[in-house]
Amino acid sequence: MTKEKTKSIKAVSLISGGLDSLLSTKLLIDQGIHVEGINFFTGFCVEGHTHAIRKQKKDRPKRNNALWVAEQLGVKLHIIDVIEEYRDVLLNPKYGYGKNMNPCLDCKGFMVKKAKEWMLDNDFDFIITGEVIGQRPMSQRKQTMPMIQKDSGADDLLLRPLCAKHLEPTRPEIEGWVDRRKLLDLSGRNRKPQMALAKKFGFHDYATPAGGCCFLTDKQYSDKLVDMWESRGNREYELDDLMMLKVGRHIRPNERYKMIIAREEGEVKFLEGYRNQYTNLYPTSCKGPLALIDGKPNQKDLKMAARILARYSQGRTRERVDVEVRLESGVLQQFSVQPLSVEEVSQDWMI
Ligand code: SF4
Repeated sequence: MTKEKTKSIKAVSLISGGLDSLLSTKLLIDQGIHVEGINFFTGFCVEGHTHAIRKQKKDRPKRNNALWVAEQLGVKLHIIDVIEEYRDVLLNPKYGYGKNMNPCLDCKGFMVKKAKEWMLDNDFDFIITGEVIGQRPMSQRKQTMPMIQKDSGADDLLLRPLCAKHLEPTRPEIEGWVDRRKLLDLSGRNRKPQMALAKKFGFHDYATPAGGCCFLTDKQYSDKLVDMWESRGNREYELDDLMMLKVGRHIRPNERYKMIIAREEGEVKFLEGYRNQYTNLYPTSCKGPLALIDGKPNQKDLKMAARILARYSQGRTRERVDVEVRLESGVLQQFSVQPLSVEEVSQDWMI
């Protein structure tokens, strides 16, 4: 049924924090549509948390880019926690994984489905995304884009403003809620048209994540996730586990334990918050990082962990370094160890 012209048309926009969702939302706002943003927190998102931890990349502002996009556009942003529901998407993806542990096609279908539920609950009319045909190998291909519409149940209420002209007209276009002529025909991996458009709209400083909107596209992160599952013998996880995989240098000398060594001050501070939950160690005779231990190390393992930690401390060239180990039970142990030499640190331990 055609909506009366007098009724304001409302669209919910999936906002990841990247340039594409910024532009697609802007195009619709400029057509007089009332748009509100929605951002799903899966636990793997690049946004939030670790953005604020490390001190590196001082030139880049610390911020949640989804909120920044909403602020730039002057729209309301609804951040929705989907950590629990997302487990099934990650663990049992119907379409499998991309290059790493990213189940992009299932993930997009899931997010659009959740956006549709939100749309119905909040009396909105349609959904928009920043997808561009041919931009991503898994979820943004000509063959897979209709699958997202179908699997999510959004069907013709899903509009992709940046590449709409390459696709069949959707209901918002057919009904005249949106002027199809003002939508775009972007395609492929070339980002220059988006950058030009951003310039035209006066957006600077937007985020340009290399891999995608979450850590699952990152090889190192995916390796750490798989290593965690393998070492535990199951694929369960808590939010704290996911956060921990984003922080520090991860070293697994054997199957019994893994060390998470802070790489800089911001990470030391972050890991300090977990000292009561994990066995942890730190050098006491020189400056050096804090390390947490995940697993069940024996005494020999603890001594080796102290030697590894000494390697990453400022006492690495000394004969001996004192290391204090605080067990999960709160019991303290002291070690005086010889720092491991470069040759003794096996590359096979690095996750
Ligand atoms: S990059 Fe991550 S959040 Fe984005 S579609 Fe893929 S799995 Fe989902």
